[in-house]
Amino acid sequence: MAILYNTDQNLRERASSCIENDFKHNAIETAQETFYVKRGQLVEEMPDWEIIRDRAAAIRNDVTKNLDFYVKQFAERAEANGCIMHYAPDGEDALWEILGIFADHGAAHAVKSKSMMSEEIGLNEVLEQAGVDIIETDCAENILQTAGDKPSHIVVPALHFDREAIAELYRKKRGYEGSSVPEEITHFLRSILREEFLAAEVGVRGCNFAVAETGSTTLVTNEGNGRMVDTYPKVQIILVGIDRIVPDLEALDTMMCLLPRSAVGAKMTAYFSVDSGPRKPGEVDGAEEVHIVIMDNGRHTLINTEFEAMLRCCRCGACLNICPVYRHITGHGYGSIYPGPMGIVLTAALEGYDNLGGMPFACSLCGACAEHCPVEIPLHDLIRQHRINMVEEHKNNPVEVPIFKGLELMWSNRAVYGTAMAAGRPIMKALADGEKGAMDESSAWIPIVKGWTSKRDFDVLAPELFRTWFKKHKKERNAGSEEGGQDR
Ligand code: SF4
Ligand code: SF4
Repeated sequence: MAILYNTDQNLRERASSCIENDFKHNAIETAQETFYVKRGQLVEEMPDWEIIRDRAAAIRNDVTKNLDFYVKQFAERAEANGCIMHYAPDGEDALWEILGIFADHGAAHAVKSKSMMSEEIGLNEVLEQAGVDIIETDCAENILQTAGDKPSHIVVPALHFDREAIAELYRKKRGYEGSSVPEEITHFLRSILREEFLAAEVGVRGCNFAVAETGSTTLVTNEGNGRMVDTYPKVQIILVGIDRIVPDLEALDTMMCLLPRSAVGAKMTAYFSVDSGPRKPGEVDGAEEVHIVIMDNGRHTLINTEFEAMLRCCRCGACLNICPVYRHITGHGYGSIYPGPMGIVLTAALEGYDNLGGMPFACSLCGACAEHCPVEIPLHDLIRQHRINMVEEHKNNPVEVPIFKGLELMWSNRAVYGTAMAAGRPIMKALADGEKGAMDESSAWIPIVKGWTSKRDFDVLAPELFRTWFKKHKKERNAGSEEGGQDR
């Protein structure tokens, strides 16, 4: 699996380099605010939003509980539609199936539209190694492919590039000679891609939802490229995660009510395709041969665990768009192709705790992500559960153990608390900047506090405990009342 792509650095190292990148912050802040406002307006227009969320969560739960039934039903109906089915228990199986399709057709040229499953299994790299020229046709994915970079968001993957950087990239790597005006860059990209669509023998794409009742696959995009990948090449490969299945068209309607609104704050995306098999006699376009690769890749292992709810996810990205931690450490801070709240839960559930570098601790447990999730996944609870599991399995940072034991002792015992406060005050005062009355970056040499003081000030403790002040104040007030004969 290729879900984690930066295991050389831990969370702190990844986050530090992202925190220092002002452009990334500004881009994410602007995107979060835009999506937040637009989504909020649309949700307000729908008084039954919460009812639809409940319904969607129930639909997705039903699919999880009866997953084998729905996968079988989808496969049978898709086959009856003329599709060729491939079932891949894990990423390696999927890669072999796909390589086999390319080999059978002697194909060396493919176009592709956005697919998180393909990222998950590292499809591009494997095809390239096998001598296949595969080109990303989604604008953002093409930028990432050209730059050799990883996505920083699951819906808007090149969020960390501005137009100057994109223009420069295409100048260096693809012979672009134009300006940084977005329309000009898009026009250039379009002219390249038209040739690619015409030359490609195989089209590879993902699938937002697979409808069990009809054996159909769907594609939800804002660029026309997905539809061209779908219709131009003679051979079509569609990657379907087993968690993409919905029972019927009515359920699809419910999900489509939520997906574009939650993802980009739009009632509907520019393109929404429902495909049911290869081109039929008399039809003017569409692939002549359609292969559907249904991939499990670890999803089954989540069933009947505390993380089962994660299988409800429809990859809308709304949880990323609201998360304050994502805003600061950006998508690359997580080191996973699935960043943000859903990324923490899914990555840890699929990959285990060994190489996360502390990812589940990139969360303040504020719960905003769960409130925004259209399928009501309790993301903050699941993140907390990962932390509990990590502590129980001794996979957390060992330095934390004595620190939290000490804090537990201090906060559970009044005498210890009082002693610690009394001892801590003069120490902090001695280390603080006298004028500010706070420890600042000059204290960043102290290992235990540097994570805080290197970025912001840490006020010294108040001159006395609140309890001491209160007792004194009460005594003075009582004395005053007795003298004045008042009782307030
Ligand atoms: S609970 Fe954690 S992951 Fe969710 S929005 Fe808050 S900080 Fe982000
Ligand atoms: S966890 Fe919820 S909000 Fe986040 S991407 Fe999945 S469906 Fe969307």
